Amino acid sequence: MAKSKYEYVKEFETDDKLLRNVFILVRVDGKGFHKFSAAHQFNKPNDVRALNLMNHAARSVMHELDDIVLAFGESDEYSFLFRRSTDLYQRRESKIVSTVVSLFTSAYVYYWNDYFTDSRRPLYPPVFDGRAVLYPSEVEVKDYFAWRQADTHINNLFNTSFWALVEKGGMTPKAAEVKLSGTDSKDKNEMLFTEFNTNYSKLPAIFRKGSVLLREHILKSLDKDHIIPTLPETLPGSTSADASVAESTMDTEEDTATPSISETPSI
Ligand code: ATP
Ligand code: ATP
Ligand code: MG
Ligand code: MG
Ligand code: MG
Ligand code: MG
Repeated sequence: MAKSKYEYVKEFETDDKLLRNVFILVRVDGKGFHKFSAAHQFNKPNDVRALNLMNHAARSVMHELDDIVLAFGESDEYSFLFRRSTDLYQRRESKIVSTVVSLFTSAYVYYWNDYFTDSRRPLYPPVFDGRAVLYPSEVEVKDYFAWRQADTHINNLFNTSFWALVEKGGMTPKAAEVKLSGTDSKDKNEMLFTEFNTNYSKLPAIFRKGSVLLREHILKSLDKDHIIPTLPETLPGSTSADASVAESTMDTEEDTATPSISETPSI
């Protein structure tokens, strides 16, 4: 078929293929979720319904995109790691990022009512942004997840302390902020224990450490260098179903915050 005279406009599209043979990491983050969580009366500091909905949306993404091998979620964000050799959309950045973000967002809305059973749908459409980052080796990939998990821990310890002071201690948000400024982790742990009878390390792991989704099972037909790692068989919550996505919280030492991918050397 002859080309139309308009087709030259296609040439204005730019090539955004991502470098080959490096890890592609896509992170999505909710836009204005401070406000969104308030408008939908999320429990503070952690609404477990919202976290479970995030996990469900992330599972939908992993079911659709086979090349994602690992995902980590906390608060209003989720990170997705693609296998190094992925050729999804010929590694075109905009296609990959937009598909992940779109699928995540639509699943978040689609499954909303399974978790927020008191409202039929969100009060307004939630928005997520997304970005791709390239990491050249497993060292950076491990450090990336350690960074996000350290963030989970720091934010959660602060938020838990803050809301204890406000909700149980009767302080104004301003006064709670002032009291917490300049404190370190040890001070906050101590305060939670002595003033609020809360042992921080006994709080649910999903709050303290975030959530991990791992793809199970090696696809036998693929070249060994191009496949996902053999995964531990005793993950909490994992199933033995083929190509299923196992959900767990990261099982790591509190203070080092090293994610479990450290045990999976050949991604
Ligand atoms: P931005 O658009 O820049 O990302 P934001 O308001 O979304 O702004 P974030 O730094 O992404 O800010 O933080 C997300 C906020 O959403 C948290 O600080 C918290 O207030 C709220 N939030 C997210 N998930 C939950 C949850 N499960 N339970 C309670 N609050 C939550
Ligand atoms: P890709 O993922 O590559 O975009 P695709 O299946 O979405 O593949 P498109 O070239 O985007 O292919 O074409 C969209 C197709 O969706 C159309 O060819 C048509 O079959 C169907 N479609 C879209 N909108 C409508 C509509 N309003 N009514 C009927 N069919 C539609
Ligand atoms: Mg943001
Ligand atoms: Mg946000
Ligand atoms: Mg965020
Ligand atoms: Mg299409």
